[in-house]
Amino acid sequence: MKLETLALRGGYQPGNAEPHAMPIYQSTTYEYTSADEMAHLFDEPTEGHIYSRISNPTTGFVEQKIAAMEGGVGALLTTSGQAANLLAIMNICKSGDHFLCTAGVYGGTVNLFAVTLKRFGIECTFVSPDATEDELEAALRPNTRLVFSETLTNPALIVCDIEKFAGFAHKHGIPFIIDNTFATPVLCRPFEFGADIVTHSTTKYMDGHAVVVGGVIVDSGNFDWTNGNFPEFTEPDASYHGICYAEHYGKAAYIVKCRMQLIRDFGVLPSAQDAFLLDLGLQTLPVRMKAHCENAMKVAQYLSTCEKVEFVNYPLLPGNPQYDLAKKYLPNGCSGVISFSIKGPRENAARFMDALNIASVVTHVADIRTLALQPANTTHRQLTDEQLKAGGITPGLIRFSTGLENIDDILADVKQALEKV
Ligand SMILES: *Cc1c(COP(=O)(O)O)cnc(C)c1O
Repeated sequence: MKLETLALRGGYQPGNAEPHAMPIYQSTTYEYTSADEMAHLFDEPTEGHIYSRISNPTTGFVEQKIAAMEGGVGALLTTSGQAANLLAIMNICKSGDHFLCTAGVYGGTVNLFAVTLKRFGIECTFVSPDATEDELEAALRPNTRLVFSETLTNPALIVCDIEKFAGFAHKHGIPFIIDNTFATPVLCRPFEFGADIVTHSTTKYMDGHAVVVGGVIVDSGNFDWTNGNFPEFTEPDASYHGICYAEHYGKAAYIVKCRMQLIRDFGVLPSAQDAFLLDLGLQTLPVRMKAHCENAMKVAQYLSTCEKVEFVNYPLLPGNPQYDLAKKYLPNGCSGVISFSIKGPRENAARFMDALNIASVVTHVADIRTLALQPANTTHRQLTDEQLKAGGITPGLIRFSTGLENIDDILADVKQALEKV
């Protein structure tokens, strides 16, 4: 099935005279016909449900749908994108381990990796997205366990050279994990380029309507955990009646281990209700992404003709330094998010923001409605102009998340707001 079909038909499949819409299984517990049936589930928890901290039929249907859309063997919903990235790392790294991450990824991820995981004894080295093979080798340590990146970074829109990083990781017998939030499987399916694990903040385009915070981890099933570098996949797990994940679950070892150890112990499975809301978003994701990309391209083209605009960053705009990478990995569009800078001091961009009538001024991104944010006046407000520049942010930078309003209305709004600058 093609993606549009999977978005509608993947996951829940009703039987005869069963509900057409996916039911919300609002239950913490499950009933068994005998003590034996119940005991069997404790031996083989993947064959049913025990408790809704570990799995639930509704979350399970949505996991199946997302796994199918990404082309993976299994998926695991989490209560946020932060929880997805945390678990994706913790399922491989323990105290004393190290991993590599490309610079420029989402700020929350940087904080998680550089500050919080460090407190747990897991160290991260940030490498340039443009790093050469030699530079990557130099950052590698004997205890490096994985490489992490984002397909299209939030908010700098750096396109990841997935084949380069996946190839490097595999050469050293470690997996490559990629956060595919901004691209979604509609614009890029990282497994096709060698990524092993995909994560998402489903809070962004997947939900798309700004109603539910969530995340997901998807397992390609392609990484060989038995290569000698990952004893926790091949040796018995004492907390789970001595099971050896790689031997017992084969291609699904990573995702089953993640549920059995981390979802069980950290308790970050979303509710059935939230999974249902996410599913409503997923159903229209392919249609929405196409329209977001079309509208964003027109806004980017318009902005690049404006006198008052210093630069426009939209990877698929001809002449953009990342054009070739974007053509390779995101040939059908590079999302609704554009960054551009208004000439002059930060007050100029603030005036533009104040003058917007349609675009909402919010910290959110990747929503069905057009949103705008000026980092220098909000998320990076405490920094001087010099500090901003060092971080690649100009005082007049605007992160513009193009929504699905009529393109003529969006363009007219941008035009009249620029006139007020
Ligand atoms: C928002 C975001 C996250 C964090 O997700 P939450 O759902 O807010 O926890 C992680 N990665 C990327 C790329 C994001 O945009």
